[in-house]
This record gives sequence, structure tokens and C-alpha cells, in this order.
Amino acid sequence: MNILDLIFPKRCVNCGKLGKYFCDRCRSTIRPILSNEPICPMCERPAIDGVTHPGCRTRYSIDGLVSFFHYDGAVRKAVKAIKYRNITDLVSEFVSLVPMQSYLVLSKLLITNPQSILIPIPLHVSRLRERGFNQAEVLGALLAKHMGIELHNDVLVRTKKTAPQVSMKKRKDRLKNMEGVFAIAPHHSLSHLISVILFDDVFTTGATMRSAANVLKRAGVKTVWAVTMAR
Ligand SMILES: [Zn+2]
Ligand SMILES: [Zn+2]
Repeated sequence: MNILDLIFPKRCVNCGKLGKYFCDRCRSTIRPILSNEPICPMCERPAIDGVTHPGCRTRYSIDGLVSFFHYDGAVRKAVKAIKYRNITDLVSEFVSLVPMQSYLVLSKLLITNPQSILIPIPLHVSRLRERGFNQAEVLGALLAKHMGIELHNDVLVRTKKTAPQVSMKKRKDRLKNMEGVFAIAPHHSLSHLISVILFDDVFTTGATMRSAANVLKRAGVKTVWAVTMAR
């Protein structure tokens, strides 16, 4: 148990009810992304199983996207809470809600790419110092454990601090904002890493994921799938 759990009793992230981080009522309002709803991570239009459209594919593009929930209600509140406080029990309650159907998609991915590793989208070092932890890494660690794969947090680095993506309306501006944001850590060779599952809490505009995937692919990674808790 975390000392904070003693000071702050568990309350529902959405309605504040005491007891659990997701009370039964709010939990029932969470909307998983259904099998007919996945989108292409490059153009964000509907795509079967989240596989990137052949027409959207380039040498350095993301190969597919799996997101677990729609980013609203209790899910949105949970993501925000985890961003600012590293609450172990909230993280595990949240990850335990990931639908079985999503794990099936992920396990298919692991069958095709048995040498997969999970890389959480890194924070810039100054932001990491401010917050003390990376929420994508905290969530990703538990997910990687459930998937039976390794998490590597020392491969990809964020070399530039960026303005929040949502503040930029134009796709062009968002892409420009993400230019040169990520790099491969010095002395890291990626030739042995056949497949990467790039993980983040939320897929908002996709610009972050696309930029990180581009860097990994240029470094020799063959397959990059993006996985997020929500979108
Ligand atoms: Zn509630
Ligand atoms: Zn597409």
C-alpha cells in the first residue's frame, strides 16, 4: 500500500464516491472501442483492426493502432489523475478494465511479431523531473507485464519540449511541432529489435506517435504498432 492511500481514501475518479477508483455506476459508463471502430493511425479514418491503410503506408509509418477506450467520462478523468499522481491502485484498476477483445488483438500481434518490446512515449527530462514519473511508463509497465513482454524505457528519448498538441488546430502545425522531438539514445542499437509496441496514455492527434515511430523505423525497427489506453 502506498502512504497516499492512507491519507487520501479511494474515491471514484469520476463521481467522487468512496470505495474504489471506478465505482460500479461510472465503470458501466466506460466505452471500450468496439471491433468496428478502429482507425488508421496515419489518416485517422476507419480501418479494419486498426491496420494502417495500404495507401497511407510509407517506409517510416506506424503499422497499426490499438486503443482500448473512448477518451471521455471516467476514462478521461482517470488519465488526468494518473498524469499528476502516480497512484498504484488506480493504475492497476484502470489496466484491469482493458477489454479481453483488445488483448486478443494484441496477442495476434505478438504471434506475428514474437520479438516485440514495449516502449512508452518518453517525457522530456525536465518534465519528468517536475512530475517525478512518466504516466505512459507506469501504465505501460503493467500492460507489458500482462502481455508477457519487456518494457524498454532507455531506447527512445525526447530531445525537445513541445507545446501541447491540442492547442494547434492545423495538422501542418502539429507535424511541425513534432519535428525532431524524439531521438534514439546514444549507443543504442536497434537492429535486434524486430517489433516495437509504442505505448502512450492517449492518442489525441497522432502526431506524437507518428513522430516517434518515424525515428524508430529510421533506426531499423521493422514493425511499430501504436497502443494507447484511450483515444
Ligand atoms: Zn463514480
Ligand atoms: Zn489511412
